[in-house]
Amino acid sequence: MTKGHKNLNASNIASEENVHAHYEQKARQKRALDKGLSLIFVDTTAKTALFQGSAKDPYKTSLHECTCIDFQMRNLPCKHIYRLMHELGLIDLESLFPLPNKEILKVRKDALRLLSFLKENWEFLPVNAIEEKCSDLVTLKTKEDSLYENRHQTP
Ligand SMILES: [Zn+2]
Repeated sequence: MTKGHKNLNASNIASEENVHAHYEQKARQKRALDKGLSLIFVDTTAKTALFQGSAKDPYKTSLHECTCIDFQMRNLPCKHIYRLMHELGLIDLESLFPLPNKEILKVRKDALRLLSFLKENWEFLPVNAIEEKCSDLVTLKTKEDSLYENRHQTP
């Protein structure tokens, strides 16, 4: 497997003592149980898995590498690798990241709506409108993060 494009930030993360504790890696662990991530097959003996991604061919995942773009770019564990670790019982994502509550889901929905608005209108929007929407996105992300932090206190 080639290292793909150079990604300085990724090599900084790789040099850290606990790669998995880095927030960029935590973000991938959080997403590893998302419904959108469709697991086709797990081979518990070979410790490999197949995932249907956005590409035509499924992603082939082992504990050390994955054919998805994220892994190719960063050469660090992607959400598929974390999901495989979870399926093999090596980590327990459900207890690390309990399912998001309704409030978090609503924030995400709002963020996705904003993102698709930006995507559809990118070429027509003036810079100040983009600035405004990006600032709204930052607000939503901050809100989601704080909801995640406080999720144990919510009923
Ligand atoms: Zn992957």
